[in-house]
Amino acid sequence: MPRIAIAWFRRDLRVQDHPALTAAVEEADVVVPVFVLDDRLLALHDGAPNRRWFMRESLVALRDELAARGAALRILRGDSRSVVPALVRETHADAVYVTRDVSGTGRHRDHAVAERLARDGVELHAKRGQYVHEPDELVTGDGAPYRVFTPYARAWLARPRRSPLAAPSRIPGPAEARPDDVPDLGPPTADPALMPDPGEPAARERLHTWVDGGLATYHETRNRLDRQGTSRLSQDLRFGLLSATEVVHAADRPGPGPEAFIRELAWRDFYAQVLWHQLDATTSPFRPAARAMRWRDDREALEAWRDGRTGYPVVDAAMRQLHATGFVPNRARMIVASFLAKDLLIDPRLGEAEFMRHLTDGDPASNDGGWQWSAGTGTDPQPFVRVFNPVLQGTRFDPDGDYVRRWVPELRAIEGAAVHEPWTLQEDVHRATGYPGRIVDHAAARERALAAFAEAGLDRREDDRGRRD
Ligand SMILES: Cc1cc2nc3c(=O)[nH]c(=O)nc-3n(C[C@H](O)[C@H](O)[C@H](O)COP(=O)(O)OP(=O)(O)OC[C@H]3O[C@@H](n4cnc5c(N)ncnc54)[C@H](O)[C@@H]3O)c2cc1C
Repeated sequence: MPRIAIAWFRRDLRVQDHPALTAAVEEADVVVPVFVLDDRLLALHDGAPNRRWFMRESLVALRDELAARGAALRILRGDSRSVVPALVRETHADAVYVTRDVSGTGRHRDHAVAERLARDGVELHAKRGQYVHEPDELVTGDGAPYRVFTPYARAWLARPRRSPLAAPSRIPGPAEARPDDVPDLGPPTADPALMPDPGEPAARERLHTWVDGGLATYHETRNRLDRQGTSRLSQDLRFGLLSATEVVHAADRPGPGPEAFIRELAWRDFYAQVLWHQLDATTSPFRPAARAMRWRDDREALEAWRDGRTGYPVVDAAMRQLHATGFVPNRARMIVASFLAKDLLIDPRLGEAEFMRHLTDGDPASNDGGWQWSAGTGTDPQPFVRVFNPVLQGTRFDPDGDYVRRWVPELRAIEGAAVHEPWTLQEDVHRATGYPGRIVDHAAARERALAAFAEAGLDRREDDRGRRD
């Protein structure tokens, strides 16, 4: 009897450097690749149309990559906990191979599937592949997970990395098998012309263009809003069109640019291990004192923030860019997150949810980590409450105002950095732009935030007492 293996794809829509796929090909005579469209997961975050579209198109590319190597991708619809065991029975498979998932939903699902398969004597082989170092690989001297990034990054950098695997040249599928159609999952809400091309080949081209181009000066350009100073690989890592190992391997060159870039990939692993060790990280603030925070219930302000009508141009530009493209640069993510949590004193979890609805790279671990860092409620707290000044952030990282003018058309006629402070224009000129006035005064809002954070005990580092690192 030939050994039959199922290669179950999830957040790893690639054939290169895919340890689970490679193991399936090496250990079985026939490989049945499958992807499950799970309606429960597809409905999360209001359906996240940008991610859905990007995923669907990337699945089409994966189907082609697999077909070129002899295997036919099966697309199943339903609850993975029942459809995967059913496929195992239908194909008489001996084993199922997956890339290990760290999110709460993914882990519960895998646990349930593994239990059902075990009843039929079939093993679920969960392989590494989503991170450079797995979330449970790095622990402090006394075996605890890291809570602070700097020592984590030190250990992360010191740990030897594996080399990327080549794509299997042949993936022996069942004879006569035809790939399934990939159903249309609906259009994105962002403009597809402003989104990165989906699929593994496009992602790899982006990687090569990046390492041969912008990478060398990344340390200088990464915070600029008015030019593309970063790799734009986050959606590729989110959907596993590229493995993080391949990206680090390609970027591992001498110089401050590559060094800074690789360190950012350590942040990705860091937040994954925070989520791994504390499953409720995405629903409750990491720092105990943050639970005492009294957020304001202000629907109008929340809507103004969401729709890019706060009257602060750099904040509004970023939120409009989010909706138009499904992407926001890291610096702008920090600015809008700080504005919501500090200037508006609105629960950052509402902003986090808005990001998850629209980001093509939306990822529970990195998004939650980024929000909690910006809101001052997460790991690695600052020794003081940092309230970003939106005007200073704008003039520093968008010095000529080009970013604002691109996303806030009402302000296009205003030249230079003056665009960051439209309220300093003559009143009739400001009114003629049609651009809204400020919904809060930053200086007053800052004082209000400092008082609220102090009241909750979030202005001190006392929460960290007793933590080793
Ligand atoms: C409030 C907030 C929310 C965020 N939400 C997400 C999210 O949902 N998904 C997501 O992938 N990133 C998130 N980030 C991190 C970061 O903003 C994006 O990864 C980055 O902007 C993507 O652009 P890039 O690929 O050009 O990044 P580069 O600067 O080129 O970085 C390379 C890669 O490193 C990783 N990376 C970079 N910075 C971070 C970081 N701070 N935390 C974790 N990983 C990082 C990403 O995988 C990124 O693709 C968030 C940050 C903040 C402040």
